[in-house]
Amino acid sequence: MRSDVVVVGSANADLVVEVPRRPGGGETLLGGELRTLPGGKGANQAAAAARSGANVSFLGCVGRDGNGEFLRERLAAAGVRTDSLVIVERPSGTAVIFVTPDGENSIVVSPGANAEMTVERLRGASGVLGAAKVVVISLEIPLATAVEAARIGDASGARVLFNAAPSVRLDPDTLRLCDPLVVNEHEARDVLGAGEGSDFRALAEGLRDAGARSVVITLGEHGALVLDDEGCSETPAYRVRAVDTTGAGDAFVGALAAELAAGKGLRRAVGFATAVSAVAVQRMGAQPSYAERTEVEEFMR
Ligand code: ADP
Repeated sequence: MRSDVVVVGSANADLVVEVPRRPGGGETLLGGELRTLPGGKGANQAAAAARSGANVSFLGCVGRDGNGEFLRERLAAAGVRTDSLVIVERPSGTAVIFVTPDGENSIVVSPGANAEMTVERLRGASGVLGAAKVVVISLEIPLATAVEAARIGDASGARVLFNAAPSVRLDPDTLRLCDPLVVNEHEARDVLGAGEGSDFRALAEGLRDAGARSVVITLGEHGALVLDDEGCSETPAYRVRAVDTTGAGDAFVGALAAELAAGKGLRRAVGFATAVSAVAVQRMGAQPSYAERTEVEEFMR
């Protein structure tokens, strides 16, 4: 069975502990109760796309351990197909997150199984990838695999939504496959190797000149900027009380992919993605904060 959206990326178990302060070297602190939450950019994006109503498959790797089973089960609960999830002999990807009373996070990511998402494994799933309408790619997996996913997707006629996160410098051959390239303001500068500055329109134009077919720059509470053949346009964010912005960018990417797969134009799709992420930032967590489509449509009225 084909999936309209195929997400190639990471899945991580987020291990969250509240601490009174960051521990110093050699120090042992008592923290709060451990919470284990489903995370990882790829898994978050897949969950958001499925909640937005798309038919979604996730291509990624988890370990043969409890966290791997937990991540699969959470994806399935969000409505994501997991038949292409590969179980490998390495620990599942993990993010160890300390949250201090000021709400700041200190995070250590252990990629584990995500590093096993190799070009060979991806080629093994090229049938799933080739049947997609939209292929979504992010970079908590090896860059060579991400680039190959973009090539296979493009060659089979899929639209490639490339989320260059975490930051990386991309070559023109890869940028030419991106339609759109989705980046936040920091990633936009890093993809181009540009310095500081806040002329986002110029950054978007720079990314187009460097090869990207279309560009979306997300600007947190300032919304998003789109640049494509029709020119440049800005979508303001909704004014909401944000309680946790973790995974806002992933909610945006997943929802955007679902809309593009449903045949919507880029601007309209960005409008919906902006609403999905506005709902998400008003709730705790990443995947648990992603709303069903009906709720988002109600919010937009
Ligand atoms: P990332 O999490 O990748 O850094 P952003 O912070 O740019 O991504 O957020 C992605 C999208 O989420 C934004 O374009 C915006 O639509 C929405 N968003 C983020 N923060 C807020 C906020 N405080 N209020 C409303 N919407 C927000």
